[in-house]
Amino acid sequence: LDATIMVAYLKQLERTDEALSAATAKADRILNEIEEMVAKNCTTVDIAYTPADLSRLKKAGKKAVMLGIENGYAIGKDITNVERFRHRGVVYMTLCHNGNNDICGSARYNEEELGVSTFGEQVIKEMNRVGMMVDISHAGEKSFYDALEISRKPIVASHSSARALCDHPRNLTDDQLKALAAKGGVAQVCMYSGFLRKNGEATIKDAIEHLNHMVNVMGIEHVGIGTDFDGDGGITGCASASELINFTRRLLLERYSGESIRLIWGGNFLRVMEEVQRK
Ligand SMILES: [Zn+2]
Repeated sequence: LDATIMVAYLKQLERTDEALSAATAKADRILNEIEEMVAKNCTTVDIAYTPADLSRLKKAGKKAVMLGIENGYAIGKDITNVERFRHRGVVYMTLCHNGNNDICGSARYNEEELGVSTFGEQVIKEMNRVGMMVDISHAGEKSFYDALEISRKPIVASHSSARALCDHPRNLTDDQLKALAAKGGVAQVCMYSGFLRKNGEATIKDAIEHLNHMVNVMGIEHVGIGTDFDGDGGITGCASASELINFTRRLLLERYSGESIRLIWGGNFLRVMEEVQRK
């Protein structure tokens, strides 16, 4: 494990002006805390802002942390926050979390089946402009297709599994997976048990089945793993970063080539990041 993305996660709360500024302040506070944590361990780890930074740090024998935002609630209704967070180093932002916000309708608690709002459209265009990846994990189906149409750059689903194998609103249908791949995007299997199987505790085998399915539907250039270890992620046999090697072992048993494993373990995700960051 060379790198990880740590996110400023915000639970979806009220959308009053007061709550929105509190959300923005909280996102900044969490990013500050991540920066402080990295600074305290500066001999072994540093923040990477680009894929090139990441390779440089690896060569220097250091681990890398990249910054993300989980829930566009963080920007409130102020579009200038997108560029400001990008300048802070944020490489991606999920448009929403569980619950609708001012940007779009969510996969959860969205009976109205809302999609991307007019403000959300501006946000996506601004993210394209400043080089921040659009992450549609947590977004509802209508938001997904809206975002795909609005974005000029490929988009990612950082942690969503396959709906065909586990019928959960957070997972993506085969049509969604195909549409994402057609635009050059990437979907990453989430190691959260509830997205992998309906009953019982998921194991690595379940995660591999989702991955195999996504490879069949999308092609090897469009898949990855989004562990969600800083959320509810962690399954039997792969419960933390220290056990990721078990997943790689399994990939080898499944006869994935070294090059395919490189693509799955971040190669595809970094390709999209590079494309999005390119001026
Ligand atoms: Zn999440």
